Amino acid sequence: MIKHTIEKSEIIRLLKDEKEDILYERADKLREEYVGDEVHLRGLIEFSNICRNNCMYCGIRKDNPLLKRYRMSPEELVETARRAADIGFKTIVMQSGEDMWFSQKIMCDIITKIKKFDVAITLSIGERTYEDYKAFREAGADRYLMRIETTDKNLYHKLDPNMSWQHRHECLMMIKELGYELGSGIMVGLPEQTIESSADDLLYLQDIEFVMAGIGPFIPHAQPPLKDAAGGTLELALRTMAVMRIMMPDINIPATTAMESLHPKGRIRALQCGANVVMPNVTEGEYRRLYELYPGKICVNDTPTQCRSCIGIKIASIGRTVGLSYGGHNGRLPQKAKL
Ligand code: SAH
Repeated sequence: MIKHTIEKSEIIRLLKDEKEDILYERADKLREEYVGDEVHLRGLIEFSNICRNNCMYCGIRKDNPLLKRYRMSPEELVETARRAADIGFKTIVMQSGEDMWFSQKIMCDIITKIKKFDVAITLSIGERTYEDYKAFREAGADRYLMRIETTDKNLYHKLDPNMSWQHRHECLMMIKELGYELGSGIMVGLPEQTIESSADDLLYLQDIEFVMAGIGPFIPHAQPPLKDAAGGTLELALRTMAVMRIMMPDINIPATTAMESLHPKGRIRALQCGANVVMPNVTEGEYRRLYELYPGKICVNDTPTQCRSCIGIKIASIGRTVGLSYGGHNGRLPQKAKL
């Protein structure tokens, strides 16, 4: 991974004061130079909204009594992945709450089956044991996605009661050691979060050398305890993302769904100031709406095919192309697990 070293004071200046068009143009140029014009698509399957955690910002937190819970059966999940592969996705991302019904054995079985569809597999299922991560990797998982959320440990512990920042960090280190292509990310606009703290977050992402990193604006949910918080803006998320592209010019950066939930052109704007990945939703039916991390989530009534064609048109409209490869870091898949 290529790193551009920037002093923290300069990161803060870029985040706070740099003129928007200058910042975005610089990020866009670096994106073009280092990762090209292709936009890599990942089909996102939200397979369970059952979670053992209680993150204050999150709509699927355990103690949200108003949410109808669902869990796809393994057969449903594999079938959803098959359909996503059929419509051309080369990466399947499986995301869920921390739902321990999906045991090591059940997950491995699902991974083995989906791997037959000639796709790269990304898991985004939170904190598990080393043995689980190892087994998933051996079964064929290529990548793992887990945001650190914030590097301000006090803030993290306030927002994620009963969770440990150190443990999340250690999980990320285990995943990396196992040879996954590792993605992480942060939220911006969390209550009490400062620009200095976001600068620390970016330095952390660079230091750990994540090869994929996403920035999501925090969107307050009506149900969880933070319902009256201000939340993040699209502008703040884009600025932070652009600075991240400057610091880590060759990583994969998604234009996030939360960005588009704040503004109808959120993802397209993101693609024009640093991003090179989009994760269209390929979850089907009612589950889309029920995987409600935050209100105003886009595309809840659409089908996977609609989402695929809609994003294709948007990408073409800005003169970019959809990548046809697996779209890993440097265009590669990680080596087969050598354990
Ligand atoms: N259980 C998995 C997936 C978590 S949900 C894991 O622990 O990694 C995926 C991401 O959604 C979270 O990492 C968080 O960054 C984001 N998210 C949750 N609530 C949100 C909100 N209210 N606004 C914006 N993003 C949110």
